[in-house]
Amino acid sequence: LLGSQQVDREVASVCPFCGVGCQISYKVRDEKIVAVDGRDGPANHGRLCVKGRFGWDYAHHPQRLTVPLIRREGVPKDPYALPPAGPDALAATFREASWDEALDFAAGRLKALRDTHGARALAGFGSAKGTNEEAYLFQKLVRTGFGSNNVDHCTRLCHASSVAALLEGVGSGAVSNPVADVAEAELVLVIGANPTSNHPVAATWMKNAARAGTKIVLADPRVTDLGRHAWRTLQFRADTDVALLNAMIHTVIAEGLADQAFIEARASNFEALKASVAAFTPEAMEPVCGVPAATIREVARAFAAARSAMILWGMGVSQHVHGTDNARCLIALCAVTGQIGKPGSGLHPLRGQNNVQGASDAGLIPMMLPNYQRVDNAAARTWFQDFWGTTLDPEPGYTVVEIMDKALAPDADPHKVRGMYVQGENPAMSDPDLNHAREALAALEHLVVQDIFMTETAWLADVVLPATAWPEKTGTVTNTDRTVQLGRQAIEPPGDARPDLWLIQQVARRMGLAWHYEGEHAGVAAVYEEMRQAMHGAIAGIGWERLQREGSVTYPCLAEDDPGQPIVFTDRFPTEDGRVRLVPTQLVPADERPDPDYPLVLITGRQLEHWHTGSMTRRSFVLDAIEPVPTVALNGRELARRGLVAGQPATVQSRRGEVRCHVRRDDGTPDGAVFMAFAYAEAAANLLTNAALDPFGKIPEFKYCAVRLLP
Ligand code: SF4
Repeated sequence: LLGSQQVDREVASVCPFCGVGCQISYKVRDEKIVAVDGRDGPANHGRLCVKGRFGWDYAHHPQRLTVPLIRREGVPKDPYALPPAGPDALAATFREASWDEALDFAAGRLKALRDTHGARALAGFGSAKGTNEEAYLFQKLVRTGFGSNNVDHCTRLCHASSVAALLEGVGSGAVSNPVADVAEAELVLVIGANPTSNHPVAATWMKNAARAGTKIVLADPRVTDLGRHAWRTLQFRADTDVALLNAMIHTVIAEGLADQAFIEARASNFEALKASVAAFTPEAMEPVCGVPAATIREVARAFAAARSAMILWGMGVSQHVHGTDNARCLIALCAVTGQIGKPGSGLHPLRGQNNVQGASDAGLIPMMLPNYQRVDNAAARTWFQDFWGTTLDPEPGYTVVEIMDKALAPDADPHKVRGMYVQGENPAMSDPDLNHAREALAALEHLVVQDIFMTETAWLADVVLPATAWPEKTGTVTNTDRTVQLGRQAIEPPGDARPDLWLIQQVARRMGLAWHYEGEHAGVAAVYEEMRQAMHGAIAGIGWERLQREGSVTYPCLAEDDPGQPIVFTDRFPTEDGRVRLVPTQLVPADERPDPDYPLVLITGRQLEHWHTGSMTRRSFVLDAIEPVPTVALNGRELARRGLVAGQPATVQSRRGEVRCHVRRDDGTPDGAVFMAFAYAEAAANLLTNAALDPFGKIPEFKYCAVRLLP
């Protein structure tokens, strides 16, 4: 690492990748970032993973967008083509434009579609990689400018089902305890998560806890690296979470291990839960989930008996058609054992993107106004109507996948989506069943994309607005621990790229909204202070000046002298009756099961070096050098059974598409399954995935579909 004498300045910020929210210092020389180091933030205490430490040079990549672009007249949108790497091919499709022309065109056609076809004809995807202020303004633009609640973002693809279960069960969609609380836990259940790859610094706290005596239980169809530190590893069959968890709950209740005092004082619907798990004996569930009954009983007993036990989960729980049921089981397990509302216990859905918690808090979701106020709640809507000085649509909007379906709806459909504004998201890579999603994007009459690269989504746009990368902006983000953190601008954007916050305001003004946010960095402080009023029940005590001084504060924080509350639900739950609601669940099979034509299960996810759709990390030299090509992973037995050798090319096919990549050996992947990361455009795993939705969270089933593998 460079010493301070070798750089011009060091700028305090936050890592732009995962929800752990490690604090970093950008080291800048000659107006370029030359290194990144960890700071002593509450989530990382100086630690960084490979992405945080080496994934910064994307900001200086030659493919950065630097001027506004408008699609040339008559050039069709090809949903089956990928954006070219060279500038010449790009110039054949898009022409450069001035900012005035591009913004007038972007907003003018959105406005015309709204005026001709009504508010529901438009939709917007904001970004969990942007700031809280951008998320707040973006949803405000859609609600007050477009005129509907058709606004969503990638929470719909990661933890929407967890949030649905948490809001229903405990009255809050966020975590009960921070990751660092694993140090206080006697037992930690990590289920459906691969933290050593996806939340690496959080995983270091888990490994430290294991070394200090905490029992780690890893429950996952894939045995990942954390298994080396686990007391017990439960490799359950993919899609059988409810069987495993209900068997644990059954054991707790049937063996008299439930915390009756907690249940009587703080839970509701216990008798219904008890009746529903009666048939879920470990012996009956062993053949379903593949975990020995004795092990299920042993882990359930240990969880109930522990002085403190905590559950952390990831998208292995949430990305199923029964994702909400999976999370309901986790809530019930904590509640019947009284393992919530105290240090080292409770519920922690590990949030994915760096600001998916904050973007959701800010209202970037179709059924919720800021701070999870339901749009169909008249009192909440009236408050926001007064606050924003406008009328609001009382109907929840469409979610990510529903918006894609509505873009392909018949012309006669009064709710057909015809125009979209996409800020910093890449649905042409992140949505399930990509051929369908790309056809939907290409079918739009007007698509405005605001991004830093010519992403697969921008390639289908009518107008592309070059925006700022994270090190080029000042604003706040909220991590998985509910900690609001300030990132500061380290470098200038390239060429004529502009701040996202400025761009959202320019589109809004051109759609007729009289917005005036004055001040540095496109008025970020003014936007934050307005958002603070809109979210007074959570961040009233976190003023902009305080953030400048302290850098990070955890909410709920209701007064300037409130230090923030890392642990919540200590005496009541924020539900109507103050109790946690126990919701019974039954087995629901995956939407698409393997069969003789497609005999393997595809599990998708991320890998350590690449972030989501790869638009940043595939343009980071070190990260792409370590993991340069797409792979499909199988265990050694499956490789031998199929006569395959690691490294050889293969084709993976589902009923929706096919990709070619290289075979990789991963003995943690179970028999009958393959694993692929979704970061690679040249072999996009989501060409294969199934768009079937969880009915409550409306999250697609990324963790389970049927495929076949051809050498
Ligand atoms: Fe960044 Fe997450 Fe790695 Fe921390 S753990 S450095 S926040 S990617």
